[in-house]
Amino acid sequence: MRVVVLGAGIIGTSTAWHLLQRGHEVVLVDRQPDAALETSYANAAQISVSYCEPWANRQAPLKALKWMFDKQAPLLWRPQWDVAQWRWLLQFLGQCTDRAFERNVAQLVSLGAYSHATLKRMIVEAGIDYPRSERGIAHVYTDARAFEEAAQAAELMRRYGVQRRVVSREELLRIEPALQAAGDQVVGGTYTPTDEHGDARVFTQALARRCAERGAELLFGHDIERLEVVGGAVQRVHLRARADGTVRALQADAFVVACGSYTTPLLATVGIRVPIYPGKGYSATLALRDPARAPQVSLLDDGRKIAMSRLGDRLRVAGTIELAGFDLRLDTPVARARCHMLLQRIEELFPGVADTRTPEQGGEPHFWCGLRPATPTNIPLIGRLPLQRLWINAGHGTLGWTHGAGSGRALAELMSGQRPAVAMDFVGFESRRRAATAASAPSAAA
Ligand SMILES: Cc1cc2nc3c(=O)[nH]c(=O)nc-3n(C[C@H](O)[C@H](O)[C@H](O)COP(=O)(O)OP(=O)(O)OC[C@H]3O[C@@H](n4cnc5c(N)ncnc54)[C@H](O)[C@@H]3O)c2cc1C
Repeated sequence: MRVVVLGAGIIGTSTAWHLLQRGHEVVLVDRQPDAALETSYANAAQISVSYCEPWANRQAPLKALKWMFDKQAPLLWRPQWDVAQWRWLLQFLGQCTDRAFERNVAQLVSLGAYSHATLKRMIVEAGIDYPRSERGIAHVYTDARAFEEAAQAAELMRRYGVQRRVVSREELLRIEPALQAAGDQVVGGTYTPTDEHGDARVFTQALARRCAERGAELLFGHDIERLEVVGGAVQRVHLRARADGTVRALQADAFVVACGSYTTPLLATVGIRVPIYPGKGYSATLALRDPARAPQVSLLDDGRKIAMSRLGDRLRVAGTIELAGFDLRLDTPVARARCHMLLQRIEELFPGVADTRTPEQGGEPHFWCGLRPATPTNIPLIGRLPLQRLWINAGHGTLGWTHGAGSGRALAELMSGQRPAVAMDFVGFESRRRAATAASAPSAAA
């Protein structure tokens, strides 16, 4: 089968790889000059199978309201004159119950475990070397009350087979000695030794090159302009080259939309509405001043809800979510406040370890922002859309790097007539979970 994969972030590139593995002919299209130059570019780097709780939970609505006027808040909702935003928020509110939360967690854990096993296999099969560490993820608490609640969350995750251990302050400092410098602030933590972290951009770009070596055509530097539908089936995709404006149309037996947050506007042109809305997040990548005192374990800071990962001689700090449409500016007051918070927190937890000087102070932090393709459930949309030849792999929200390897494989399996070994709902297929548990749950596309 000839397949055109639209979008070369971690999701589209992984899909292309797994389609090639199953003997399909693949064309991988992206508007950027290389893979992973948009949301997969500078994320927090965590392969976070065990910390996969969605943002939608019982406390989320109240917290979001309280945080509305705090520029540095972990979740910042900025109301827009945009029906899509309000529709998405209503669906998000519908997920803010204990029942929905547990149902979503179960699916996210299942996809996470399948994806992690797949990633490990891909690293070997594709022979990809990239900045990676398998030292686990530790969640650091600096507030005693929040730490008490951590035990409850760990217990819930254990029910789904996640080995998240609550650790005392002393044990946490042994797991990550770099936290000693801020030891008096730390009250305890949780730790999952099986998680890992690594550079999503380096991995994805290397994977795209491996795809090309295996015969895929990489059509980078091309804007996807529209899908041409005839008689209920997608016939062609129309592209325009960024370099010289040349237009071309590609025919295929199947088309996969993996355009991250831009999946929504692209599918709207053919009358398909998907609940994917951009959730803006920020990162700063900093040069290390004192590598010997820098953390090796990837960390989650509960206080600020941000993540920190060491990538070779750099420290990446990333996080926060802002619901404000397709806004990629880094120079607004809100963006500046959020970037400043990232630097400040690194200095509080690891004083003197990284170069946290702002550009005004002569520093060179690499600030970046990306638009997480967020669904109200945080469960991605993987499967078949209601037009012949059209498939989707998008909506991975906060976990696209964690779920990338497995999502690509799952869609390639579905397209090849196989059933992925994941207990989750695939778009356009009878619910696997429902079949397995006889429980009633809405489809991932609801
Ligand atoms: C601050 C931050 C921290 C994060 N941390 C983590 C983490 O630690 N762990 C984790 O698992 N996940 C993390 N994520 C989430 C993860 O980065 C995303 O879920 C993932 O990158 C989404 O991948 P994607 O391939 O769907 O989207 P993208 O990487 O955005 O890929 C979509 C591609 O489609 C292309 N495209 C779109 N529209 C068009 C068009 N019209 N024409 C041509 N090309 C087009 C784009 O150029 C892009 O390359 C984080 C995200 C952010 C923002």
